[in-house]
Amino acid sequence: MKPRLLYILAPSYSGSTLLTFLLSKHPDIATVGELKADKDGYDTDYRCSCGELLLECEFWANVAGQAEQELGTFSLQKFGTAFHSESGLNRRVLGATVRSAGLEVLRSAALALHPGVRRERDAILERNFALSRIITSVQGGSVFLDGSKDAIRLQHFLDSDLWDVSVIFQTRDGRGVINSNMKHREISFVTAAEDWRRNIEELQRVRERLPDTMVFDLKYESLCRRPGEALRNIYKWLGVSVDLDDVAQIAKDDKHILGNAMRLKALDEIRLDESWREQLSEAAQSQFAKDFAKTNLSLGYLSV
Ligand SMILES: [Zn+2]
Repeated sequence: MKPRLLYILAPSYSGSTLLTFLLSKHPDIATVGELKADKDGYDTDYRCSCGELLLECEFWANVAGQAEQELGTFSLQKFGTAFHSESGLNRRVLGATVRSAGLEVLRSAALALHPGVRRERDAILERNFALSRIITSVQGGSVFLDGSKDAIRLQHFLDSDLWDVSVIFQTRDGRGVINSNMKHREISFVTAAEDWRRNIEELQRVRERLPDTMVFDLKYESLCRRPGEALRNIYKWLGVSVDLDDVAQIAKDDKHILGNAMRLKALDEIRLDESWREQLSEAAQSQFAKDFAKTNLSLGYLSV
């Protein structure tokens, strides 16, 4: 039987870190957040969510030791788990966005024709597979959760057929995503809105190809408003025990989560962030209603 993989497919700033922390409390779920890690590598001052430096965290020392044994080489400063290549052609095939079905055929053809690309892809898959198995054996549980979010990574996992894959497609009102991107990346409304639309289209292309039973559609807003209900529904769908005390409580202390800066913040309460309502200008909100409402509606959000 193939090991189980639960993947969070989502735009950035849609609450996937919050969801990861909530799910990580389930005894059947093992996770380190975003297994893709940082493709450029971690500096020596990077902190694990447990508070220790990544290079001094006991959990990670244990994982790294086992990974080195299994894979030959492994470094906590550069995981080598992101689908990214230093060489031009490989980079285009491995790391490109997920496009229409026709272009996906071209990608498969490129992988088939170029043994170099395929070897590199398979080596990255092997690292992901080994790490997911090691982390699951250290933490316990039957499902490994990867909160990496991006579409192309999920596509490579599905193509590999190494795992029995389940997907949470987590979305948030586009105005919230855009507002967060404007703040964190210091970009204009139009740039953030167009990035968001492209991203949603890419995620939906992958989503549409998956059988419905493989996917749980989750709205960030519903998770924040009724976390207990949302989590119980996820556990029921996943086929793991639903009978948990404090199902929606965030336990951070013994977790070792990688990913964005949220991992280090005090996540002691679940709070719906709708600051976009005040922070997005009226002009931006009316432009959104005019040009981007259709995309928002395709996710089930009314732009009024
Ligand atoms: Zn740690």
